[in-house]
Amino acid sequence: MAVSDHVDFNGFMEGVKRRNPYQPEFVQAVQEVAEDIFPFLDSNEEYHSQQILRRIAEPDRVVSFRVCWEDDNGNVRVQRGWRVQNNNAIGPYKGGLRFHPSVTESVLKFLAFEQTFKNALTGLPMGGGKGGSNFNPKGKSVREIQRFCQSFMTELYRHIGADVDVPAGDIGVGGREIGFMFGQYKRITGQFTGVLTGKGLEYGGSLIRPEATGYGAVYFLANMLATKDQDLVGKTAVISGSGNVATHAAEKIVQLGGKVLTLSDSGGFIHDPDGLTQEKIDWVKTHKTHRRGRIEEYVEAFPGASFTAGKTPWGVPCDVALPCATQNELLGEDAKALIANGVKAVSEGANMPTDLDGVHAFRGAKILFAPGKAANAGGVAVSGLEMSQNSERRSWKEEELQQMLKDIMAGIHKSCETYGRQGDGYIDYVKGANIGGFKKVADAMLAFGVV
Ligand code: GLU
Repeated sequence: MAVSDHVDFNGFMEGVKRRNPYQPEFVQAVQEVAEDIFPFLDSNEEYHSQQILRRIAEPDRVVSFRVCWEDDNGNVRVQRGWRVQNNNAIGPYKGGLRFHPSVTESVLKFLAFEQTFKNALTGLPMGGGKGGSNFNPKGKSVREIQRFCQSFMTELYRHIGADVDVPAGDIGVGGREIGFMFGQYKRITGQFTGVLTGKGLEYGGSLIRPEATGYGAVYFLANMLATKDQDLVGKTAVISGSGNVATHAAEKIVQLGGKVLTLSDSGGFIHDPDGLTQEKIDWVKTHKTHRRGRIEEYVEAFPGASFTAGKTPWGVPCDVALPCATQNELLGEDAKALIANGVKAVSEGANMPTDLDGVHAFRGAKILFAPGKAANAGGVAVSGLEMSQNSERRSWKEEELQQMLKDIMAGIHKSCETYGRQGDGYIDYVKGANIGGFKKVADAMLAFGVV
């Protein structure tokens, strides 16, 4: 839209900036949604008069707390922990926990805001939340991580519950950390409930939860390509990140006949012109996740590849790109480089990896561009299925779950098409995801009145 035409939009964003000083990530996430919602409000007066967007952009609550723990040398360490409960109009708060030194209140507020729309898009009854800490797991021993997780849960437990708020993993929080936190929750409350997702299979976890975010992002990509009668066979893919999302996205691309050229971490990116095989991906999984190594070491294991320090992989020509690392890792100039190199589709495995300039560049060039809240919803969707299995006290079969994940991703694609198709046939997935997610939450909120 021509933003300047909307006096209300500018006034709204001024208010968001004023009320959230020094929270640039949160302001960015709200702006990206508001750019689509304001024109939509013109023809939906009730959402406007009931101040629905204004309410969704004000978290229900932000809880912050001190987390003390002792390191292996007996030093007392102090971290800050948070849980942002953004909106529970359509279900219990749901969203991951992130342990990373970059975590601030702004980052968690943006993630909880995005999660609200993402969870609505899955079609499952989940509200939006997010939490975490500025704790840096890198270089910590397993015992230190265990002590931190236990201390974190000793405070968090009073704010969560299977019907209240159900955290899961995110950056720095995987199956091991969920295990430590679930054990502590159970120990404090004496209850075995589905209070966390991403659990181990032995104690209520769901099959395919670890794979779901990366696989889902590739299913979404395949759905987008199918609108142009294309598929992934023979397509080159540039992927950033080398964690759970990136490695599973790479795996699914390879399974569907594509060629993955890159992976990255905070040190730089590797470029493997021969393409990653399942064997190479398994090496990365073991090396990065289990040994917490550096991606740089890939070139020693697979000499055909090269490593570029301190750079992101967006300059490598490709057919499809999947940013799967973290927020604001793909900037305006990167988007322009990808477009100049002929990229056909971009699917965001991470949350808000593309900055606003990049989003505008992709939409302006009419590239197939799936925002994280649509493309990476597969993870939280299978978390929703884990909650259902816990409530039923059963475990579903892998084939059933695989099919449900595919169906959910196809359903999200359909919503994006419904709300994002333009007059010239172009599907604006950002607009489609924003309006599709907003509408469901907004209609529930209208039903509740002014609360
Ligand atoms: N952290 C993931 C996300 O960004 C998953 C959250 C969950 O499973 O609750 O959607």
